[in-house]
Amino acid sequence: MYSISKKISLGKKALIAKESFINAETSPSVVTQFICPDCNHENSIEIIPYNSGFPIFQMYDKDHILSKSELLKNGMVSETSQRMIHFGELTVDDLPTLYFGTACKTCHSKYICVFSYGEKQPGLTILNISGIWKYKELE
Ligand SMILES: [Zn+2]
Repeated sequence: MYSISKKISLGKKALIAKESFINAETSPSVVTQFICPDCNHENSIEIIPYNSGFPIFQMYDKDHILSKSELLKNGMVSETSQRMIHFGELTVDDLPTLYFGTACKTCHSKYICVFSYGEKQPGLTILNISGIWKYKELE
């Protein structure tokens, strides 16, 4: 799990075993699997709430890694509703949104995972993975 520092171009979206987790399912961590579209290896990822990931803002700030329009076009995030704008302009499900990079254990293709985590309403804590996409660093 790492942060991305260069501009990237997105490739295929990977298949994820489970994308949405609520309440006790998010504690102490979320574990799911994704299939690498290049080699079909099933990779496992673990997301630890309040520990895993980097703010999605770092990706689209000055189009540093990916532009806002690319993030939206690929369904990685949505525009945040006005009353939740304190979480940033772009979020998954109006909750604090993070990303991280990871690699296929077998073929070392690089992937980016985008997810959000937070209290949707009192008593309902949600972790939603919007997806895992293959990417390449641009020069
Ligand atoms: Zn692979």
